[in-house]
Amino acid sequence: MHREQGRRSAWFRLAFAVLVAAVAVLSPKFAFTDLPEHTVISNAGSTTSSDGDQYSAGATVKLASTGAYQLMNVTLNSGKTVAARWNPCQTAITYEVNLSGLPKKKRAAMLKTIKASFTRLHAATGMTYRYTGTTTFVPTQENLAQQPAEIVVAAVARSLTDFPMTSRSLGYGGVLWSSWYGSQGEGAAVMRGYVVLEANAIQKLKTGFGKGLRQSNVILHELGHASGLEHVSSRKEQMYPTLTSASPSGYAAGDLAGLAKLGKKAGCITVPSTLSLHDLS
Ligand SMILES: [Zn+2]
Repeated sequence: MHREQGRRSAWFRLAFAVLVAAVAVLSPKFAFTDLPEHTVISNAGSTTSSDGDQYSAGATVKLASTGAYQLMNVTLNSGKTVAARWNPCQTAITYEVNLSGLPKKKRAAMLKTIKASFTRLHAATGMTYRYTGTTTFVPTQENLAQQPAEIVVAAVARSLTDFPMTSRSLGYGGVLWSSWYGSQGEGAAVMRGYVVLEANAIQKLKTGFGKGLRQSNVILHELGHASGLEHVSSRKEQMYPTLTSASPSGYAAGDLAGLAKLGKKAGCITVPSTLSLHDLS
């Protein structure tokens, strides 16, 4: 996300990642876009698993306006469109945190805020998130499949990642999903989520939860992207692309409605047993 001059002090950015399940000679390919363009993310290929199913990342992602929230959509092989979301019936979504870009004295408070943000995300989605420790991993466009946990939150200098962050950026978040079709039917599921926080910028924001220019609101916004939420045009929502002094305290009504659509109430996704994480690398 970007920081702008004047009143609009920060932009959030969203990244989409498209995964190509890799064959030996084919590296995963990713495509990213920033809002607000309605972007088609083209897929880069597919591979054949041992049981003959086709695993494809070739779906199209575009914005779907639904009012106060927007979901990332994936177009399946048949042309049907579904929301890009985590399988809410997996035991837990693991996450690790990289705070190496922050002064040591500020790391404990940031970790506490991140954990509390996941607690809020849990309340909104009904899904379980499990903290599995710190990491030195920094998400980039190429390494998401190798993340040490399903979600990585990294507060680092933006120069360490290749996401298109600028001097006005506060954060960048998104998902990596995979789609499939074949004998087990078709579907799509988010496999990884990532949040990069611009360490120098975010530590200048207020701590704690509340309205306005706060670290917590940036984290919640980016976790929204890591859950499948897009930006909205309403300033009343945390998914508005700019952090302002009028940003709501945590998730607002539209954000919560969107997260509910992505969470437990949306039902389980049956991910093919043959689609394993190593297919993503
Ligand atoms: Zn954003």
